[in-house]
Parts: sequence; C-alpha cells; structure tokens
Amino acid sequence: MHQYLSHPVFSTISEAAEELGLDTNVIGGFVRDSLLGKECKDIDVVTVGSGIELANLVAKKLKADKVVVFKNFGTAMIKHQDLEIEFVGARKESYRNNSRKPICEDGTLEDDQNRRDFTINAMAFSLNTANYGELIDPFNGVEDLKSKIIKTPLTPSETFSDDPLRMMRAIRFATQLNFQIEKNTLAAIAKEKNRISIVSKERITDELNKIILAKKPSIGFIILEETGLLPLIFPELQKLKGVEVINGKAHKDNFYHTLKVLDNICESTDDLWLRWSAILHDIAKPDTKHFQEGHGWTFHGHEDKGAKMVPHIFRKLKLPLDHQMKYVQKLVRLHLRPIALVKEEVTDSAIRRLLFEAGNDIDDLMKLCEADITSKNKNKVKKYLENFELVRQKLKEVEEKDKIRNWQPPIDGQTIIDTFNIQPSKKIGEIKNAIKEAILEGEIQNNYEEAFTFMIEKGKELGLTASKKNTKS
Ligand code: ATP
Ligand code: MG
Repeated sequence: MHQYLSHPVFSTISEAAEELGLDTNVIGGFVRDSLLGKECKDIDVVTVGSGIELANLVAKKLKADKVVVFKNFGTAMIKHQDLEIEFVGARKESYRNNSRKPICEDGTLEDDQNRRDFTINAMAFSLNTANYGELIDPFNGVEDLKSKIIKTPLTPSETFSDDPLRMMRAIRFATQLNFQIEKNTLAAIAKEKNRISIVSKERITDELNKIILAKKPSIGFIILEETGLLPLIFPELQKLKGVEVINGKAHKDNFYHTLKVLDNICESTDDLWLRWSAILHDIAKPDTKHFQEGHGWTFHGHEDKGAKMVPHIFRKLKLPLDHQMKYVQKLVRLHLRPIALVKEEVTDSAIRRLLFEAGNDIDDLMKLCEADITSKNKNKVKKYLENFELVRQKLKEVEEKDKIRNWQPPIDGQTIIDTFNIQPSKKIGEIKNAIKEAILEGEIQNNYEEAFTFMIEKGKELGLTASKKNTKS
C-alpha cells in the first residue's frame, strides 16, 4: 500500500512518530478515498499518545507550518501545501443515552477503529517503520469497498443510537459513492430514526447539502424517505409524496417528480442553490391542490405560495437567509413564467417583464424550466425543449435590443424630487413605477429624454408642476 503514501509528508510524520515512539496511522476518509482511486486532501492521523505533541514535531520538521491546536479535543491541525493534516490521539468511546457527547478515554488503535462509523471508514495505513504502509482493516472494509456496501463495524442499532448523525452520514456516503446500505444497517436506521432529534439542525443540513451536491441526489432522498427520516428532518418534502385519485383521475406524484427535476438540474449545474430551487419549485403543490370537475387537478398559485414558504423552510433548516434564500425564492416564484412565453403571439413586453424580474438569474431560471420537463414521452420532451430554445432566442433578441437585464429605470427618485421641488412622498414611488411600467410595456423608449417627458406628464396628472429651474427642454 506504499503507493498511497508517496507524498513526502508521510515519511516526515513517520520519522516524527518514530522519534517520539508513538504508534501512528493514517485513518478514515484518506484511506477509503485512496483505495477508491480518488484524490483526498484531508488526512487524519491517529496516534496512540498525544496528537498535539506529534503535530508539533511534524510542524518543526516541515518548517514554517503553523499548528492549530484544539486543546479541548486534544487534536491539532497543520496545513501543508494543499493538504490539511489533522492529528488526534487514539480514543475509546462510550456514550450516555441522551447526548451525542461521548465519554472519552485514551485508547489503542483498535479502540479507535471500533468507534468509527462504517467499515469503509475504519481502515488505516500504518506509518510505523516496522510495517510502514500496511493496511489495517479489522472489519474487512476492503471487501465492502469492492462490493459497494455501507455497513457499521459494530451492532448497527447501537452505532446509530450512540451518534444518530451517523444515519445521515450513511445515507450521504451511499449517495456520494453510489453504494448500497447493508440490510441490517438500513433496518437500524429505520428503527433508530427518532434519535435524530438530538442532532443539531446545522449538522443535519450539512449532510443534506452533501447529498444535494452529489451526482445523483435522488438516491439519498429516496433512502431518507424509505427509512422514515425524511418527515422528521424535512416534512414539507415528504408531503409531496403520494397520489390522489378522484373520478379515476390521478395527479402525478410530486415527490418523485421533484427528485427527477433535481437529478436533471444536476446535469447542468453544480450550484447548491440552483439545486435547492429544484427541490423547492413545487413545494406548495400539496397546499394548493384542487380537483375541479371537467378540469382535473390544479395547483393554482403554487409558485407564489411556494416562494412564501422558502424563508420559513430556510430558517428551519438553518440555511443562509440572505442572498441565497432570496435567489431560491425568486426562482420558485418565477418557475412557470418561461412556459407562458412559449406561445407564438407572445409580446415583447411580456419578455421584457420577465427579463426585468429575473435579472441576471434568467439563465438559471431557464435551466430550472428545462429540468422541470420530466415526461417519459421522448417526443414530448423534444418538443418542450425546442419550445424553450425558442424562448431563449426571444429573450436574447429582446435583451440585445432593450438591455433590460440588470436595468435600472433612467429616472431615479431624486430627479423626481428635484424636478417637482417636493418632499419625499408616496407620489414619487407612483411616478417611478409609472415610468418603469411605460418602458416595460413599450409605450416609451428606454432612455432619459423620453422618460423625462413622461415624468412631467405623469406629474401633471398628479397635480404637480415642474419648478422652472429644473425643467429640461
Ligand atoms: P468526507 O471528508 O468526504 O466528508 P470523511 O470520511 O473523511 O469524508 P469526516 O467527517 O472528515 O469524513 O471524518 C473523518 C473520519 O472520522 C471518518 O472517515 C470516520 O472514520 C470518522 N468519523 C467521522 N464522523 C464520525 C461519526 N459521526 N461517527 C464515527 N466516526 C466518524
Ligand atoms: Mg474528511
């Protein structure tokens, strides 16, 4: 296994360990990823003794590298080139029932491997001179890597009950690596699911985001649903599941539809927030669902209602509430608009309006709409995609002509105040809005002169007169 330790930093750590007489190994993610042929920049080193002492000596040998010490945890971290090396003392753990915080004592390498979450995460490479590079794999993680299996090293129920975050981690690794969760391990997640309540929202959401950033996130969401974790961590998404039938008419299952849209959008973007927009685009369908005789199922207003739900969901999941949330909210609110532009007779003003509202996010909105096509009928898909291509073209033409994206109307509030010599008031907003509307509707051109003339007219209607010194010819 020497080939995986070819980076010079490993022989430096080995030297330092030898000098201090410490049994030292690389463990966890680095070993797993190496054996999978993946690059890994995070290196966890476990030593039977003080991780901090070892880190200090390694830093000295590497010169100039700063050691970040976490005294409370007995760990230390060194950044070296593009690597992040974490040093920990081997530990033995036992848990109390009502907390994720274990009672820790010093332990052997074996103890430390026993407390790892999955067999594939419990493997170590020796950095000791006697057996340098040897793989130490007490739970046959190599076999599980080969057969693509996520499995706990010890009894699954206890492993999950001790630290319920591991349930999220199991599902996250299954998604990232496209592995199966072993039968008993999966059953234990379903059994211990309620223990998730002792895990902080932040940590759950971290794992959720890692699932969402995987190549095919639906894998994770399906397991979350099947194990019963989904309603506990994200009830709004769970509510999308199911089909109702009235008079023989069924609507589609919006849970599986949403997952398809999510997988689709992953083909065209790595952006977490655009992926979140896909997850949330139909989130209000259960609340707006209605059966109308002669029409079948409708979901009127689900885009507006959905946009209103976004802040609430972001807050509950401890997702950021500033521009990321606004962006997702905007895409949810606008997700039906491009479809309305497919029609042949669509006016330039309708296109200008969408450009104005979407601004720079128009391309992302189009990606969302294209991902939203989930028909199984190939001809239909082809036709819908062609339609959106036409919409993209129209958007491009109007944008080139009118430059509406990122546009600010040519007259601002201050100009209105100065021209009519008035105090800030509601009328200013009214005039500003009227100018914006007139330009978007194409009644006047998008330039200062026409907007100024229009402003004077509008002012007159509102009983205002322009003060002489400010009136332009
Ligand atoms: P990645 O860095 O891609 O998220 P990783 O396996 O390196 O994957 P980390 O969270 O960095 O995950 O943890 C490093 C190692 O620590 C894991 O490989 C595992 O052995 C162990 N570990 C992490 N979290 C837990 C946990 N909750 N329970 C038990 N062992 C854990
Ligand atoms: Mg890691």
